[in-house]
Amino acid sequence: AAKVLCVLYPDPTGGYPPPPVRDGIPTITHYPDGSTVPSPAAVDFTPGALLGSVSGELGLRHFLEAGGHSLVVTSDKGPDSAFDAHLPDADFVISQPFFPAYLTAERLAAAPRLRAAITAGIGSDHVDLAAAIDRGVNVCEVSYCNSVSVAEHATMMALSLVRNYLPSHAVAAGGGWNIADCVARAYDIEGMAVGTVAAGRIGLGILRRLHPFGCALHYTDRHRLPADVEAQYGLTYWASWTEMAAAMDVVTLNCPLHPETEHMVNADTIGAFKRGAYLINTARGKLCDADVIAAALADGRLAGYAGDVWYPQPPPADHPWRTAPWSGMTPHTSGTTLSAQARYAAGVREILECYLASPPKPIRPEYQIVTDGKLAGAGAHAYSV
Ligand code: NDP
Repeated sequence: AAKVLCVLYPDPTGGYPPPPVRDGIPTITHYPDGSTVPSPAAVDFTPGALLGSVSGELGLRHFLEAGGHSLVVTSDKGPDSAFDAHLPDADFVISQPFFPAYLTAERLAAAPRLRAAITAGIGSDHVDLAAAIDRGVNVCEVSYCNSVSVAEHATMMALSLVRNYLPSHAVAAGGGWNIADCVARAYDIEGMAVGTVAAGRIGLGILRRLHPFGCALHYTDRHRLPADVEAQYGLTYWASWTEMAAAMDVVTLNCPLHPETEHMVNADTIGAFKRGAYLINTARGKLCDADVIAAALADGRLAGYAGDVWYPQPPPADHPWRTAPWSGMTPHTSGTTLSAQARYAAGVREILECYLASPPKPIRPEYQIVTDGKLAGAGAHAYSV
């Protein structure tokens, strides 16, 4: 029997379950590239329910206990936490990037039975991949489960910054009507140059969404997109992200966090941006130096910064991005809408069904990050150690 240790964010402050706002969610069967959404043998939850908080348990308890396995769910994940206490005999750890259970080399050393770290979402940078490789711990994630969710969020944030939405709403909510205060920073995005650093599922998803807005669309990536995709959306490719940034009105970061991208926006590179550029980062907080971003907002190099990713998560109460001027940060929410939760909960179930079958079944290559001591599948493509 396996012990599954799952770290999830705390329940709503008003109690669990929250009253449902809508009755169900649309049924999505395929992703934009034609691949299928997770397809476990069954699920024991109602799509659209809150699954990502502690009492939601990713809908896994019945399935695991019926198979003779045990499930521990906690939101206590800091030093000397319940997470640490359960690691020594855990076979599987599940965690969401929104509320990551950091699996450091020390923690991996304290988990001798661990077979796999499963990311309920996309982005496994909270796991020390080099240490996982050394220890033979597999790492997998539910590729594509929330890429569209994040692309929608980043597109919303680009529009809201350019149009000065949040400060204008604050004027209305505060009982005011000073239109001039609202519009002194409001523009149309039409005609602006928008560039993505990385044109993977999310980056290209944002470009596709902005295409009808009449923007000039640009990207940089390690590999070029197919010529027909470039032609369809009128994309301009740049080999260097800083050269691209110098020509952009809006820049959006959509690459994974790994050693070569950590703090790519720093004191040396911030000068590459046009004065008054907008920067959207829904990829990972550590792609940017937090203090450099706050200073750039204060001195006008950036006209706006928005995103939902921070470091660490949760960030301290005095993190500069909480209160920086012209920022539109949210907690890490874009990839954990109720719609996304239904997909990644099903994806985690699919992965566990594969591991717990006898004999075990291989998981989809696109879900594999580290397998049998090597970067594999999606991980071999997108990560470096
Ligand atoms: P994909 O794997 O589809 O795309 C990642 C892209 O980044 C690939 O095209 C890859 O290039 C490219 N890339 C890797 N390194 C670099 C680099 N140094 N410079 C430029 N491009 C690079 O992933 P997704 O689009 O689905 O997700 C992207 C990231 O977004 C995730 O890694 C995660 O950190 C974050 N994310 C955030 C979420 C949220 O809730 N805010 C939810 C989901 C993801 P190539 O393939 O050509 O080698």
